[in-house]
Amino acid sequence: MEFLFDHFGPLYGYLIAVFSIFLRYVLFAGSTFLMFYWVRKKNWQAFKIQRKFPKRKNIFNEIQHSFFTAFIFALMGVGIYFCRKAGWTRVYTDLQQYSYAYLILSFVFLMLIHDTYFYWLHRLMHQKRFFALIHRVHHQSHNPTPWTSLSFHPLEAILEVAIVPIAAFIIPFHPITLLLFATWSLIWNIIGHLGFEMFPTGFVHHPIFKWFNTSTHHNMHHSKANCNYGLYFNIWDSIMNTNHKAYRTTFDQITQKKKAI
Ligand SMILES: [Zn+2]
Ligand SMILES: [Zn+2]
Repeated sequence: MEFLFDHFGPLYGYLIAVFSIFLRYVLFAGSTFLMFYWVRKKNWQAFKIQRKFPKRKNIFNEIQHSFFTAFIFALMGVGIYFCRKAGWTRVYTDLQQYSYAYLILSFVFLMLIHDTYFYWLHRLMHQKRFFALIHRVHHQSHNPTPWTSLSFHPLEAILEVAIVPIAAFIIPFHPITLLLFATWSLIWNIIGHLGFEMFPTGFVHHPIFKWFNTSTHHNMHHSKANCNYGLYFNIWDSIMNTNHKAYRTTFDQITQKKKAI
């Protein structure tokens, strides 16, 4: 970031950040889409959660919304950078300041904070008065693909990442942690919107793995709504009893079909 702003100034620095975020999305979502929806489409058909394939028009719509999301996510990154320069955040750049164990722990902690924040924000966005204004854009995709991963209304994009700068004001994070977290979050979003179930049979019944969400989990959120609100973990959906009743049986049906191949 330092290099970016010193060499290109604030405006071009910001635009380069936007471009990098959008490029990361195109590379990650694009390569996954290419693999699942084109190259291995026939071979992996049995993994498909919904039988139908989404229309081209929907995909263009998702890419368009994701493009604007990149402007908001970059604003968050640039905002944290300037706040750190002003000494307002607890972001630290000297790796020796805290241990490597802390670097990993702070990453896990950020995931748990984001997961809790997202679950409750998501439930709020499904309230009638907020849904139409904020969350409808994301739910235009009833049959999500990797391209859905950043397809948000600008207001939703702001709310989604708002927790990160708040956390950076209170908890010490290294920029590496924040960058890895942003990339991990995108990868997890792509898995959630994949449209294919790649986790193995028994995953949702395993004593440890059952606490992680799956592609089926979020796909059912898009096709059925009012259920399966969680992001990375199945902690809050389990506590609040908001998992769809047929979630685990649907997962079993898809993954057992996979076994038959
Ligand atoms: Zn939703
Ligand atoms: Zn979604």
